[in-house]
Amino acid sequence: MMVVMKRHAHRLGTRVVHAGREVDQATGAVTPPIHLSTTFARDDSGGLMGEHFYSRIQNPNRAALEECVATLDGGAAAAAFASGSAAANGILQCLEPGDRVLYSADLYHGVRVLMEEVAALVGVRCESVALFDLTAARAALQGGARLVWCETPTNPSLRVVDVAALAELCAEAGATLVVDGTFATPVLQQPLALGADLVVHSTTKYLAGHGDVIGGMVVAADPETPLWQRLVRLQQMAGAVPSPFDCWLTLRGLSTLVVRMKQHVDNAEELARRLVEVAAVSEVAYPGLPDHPEHEVAARQMARPGGMLSLRLKGGEAAVSGFVSRLRWIPHATSLGGVHTLVEHRALVEPADSPVPRDLVRVSVGIEDVEDIWEDLAQALGS
Ligand code: PLP
Repeated sequence: MMVVMKRHAHRLGTRVVHAGREVDQATGAVTPPIHLSTTFARDDSGGLMGEHFYSRIQNPNRAALEECVATLDGGAAAAAFASGSAAANGILQCLEPGDRVLYSADLYHGVRVLMEEVAALVGVRCESVALFDLTAARAALQGGARLVWCETPTNPSLRVVDVAALAELCAEAGATLVVDGTFATPVLQQPLALGADLVVHSTTKYLAGHGDVIGGMVVAADPETPLWQRLVRLQQMAGAVPSPFDCWLTLRGLSTLVVRMKQHVDNAEELARRLVEVAAVSEVAYPGLPDHPEHEVAARQMARPGGMLSLRLKGGEAAVSGFVSRLRWIPHATSLGGVHTLVEHRALVEPADSPVPRDLVRVSVGIEDVEDIWEDLAQALGS
């Protein structure tokens, strides 16, 4: 776990390039070296020669990555995990039997599985509530809650939760608010500034950005809370941590986050505008469209509407199967947030009881030339 001592004065576009990096004192290397050593030597008096002791506990590459993401989210501390799911699981493992957790049913299905199958095993009570509906959230919070888990925008329905309003309700109820900001990234959304206590990212997605490394991160507003202390203890002792090379790759990917997000969003906005006109499409879910149910909230809370969109097709599930099979170069594959466009028929991966419609196809809009993406989508949609 890295605690950020000095807040970086630079703007976000500079912090993605410089935070957590410094010129290597031993060699002068400007690009950080990868420290593969699992252990760090002691001097003659038995004291550690540097800041590190053993790489499960901490490692220079992990510390650099944690420092960078903590500053991007405006947090005081960050803890890296081996995946976004390990990060989510870590938070849930900090809870105690009898604790109540509220979450939106339309969040990423893997986290829902962790809530309903793993946390439930130790007596943590996880209940689903539509958090984008503040009246429903207020009513549910009247029963008390230890934790509220809010993903915004949600994967894959792209619903948006009003984080500032939910944070107020959580503060009144004494509940910790966790925001999974994977879809938005710190470039588009700053949940801690809106009142959240913790931010979670699957760094596998936009933060690393190239589809070549799995990772997760939790960022805290306050490093003194018992929950945070427990999470860091768990990170270090249970050891679901990323390797030095994974941290290095993720930090390298982060350098281009701001420019990549600009291109992702430029492309997604253009495609969303065109897709609403396609005859075969019954619905385009994209927070930037004026008819999105939380368009106003998204416009207030996000710098821009993001690079993810979902479509529903008029011909139902069979039409989606036909559409994905006709794509010429866009891969039909899971995951998102990489430089390449990916399309996924979610019914193939969502559990049988998922609230996600069977005819929904998710598009992770890449940074390629938008006209090429459009041509492939349009021909596969028959337009
Ligand atoms: N949170 C969200 C919103 C996700 O989309 C995902 C994965 O798709 C995760 C968490 C889990 O991340 P990982 O695949 O890195 O475990």
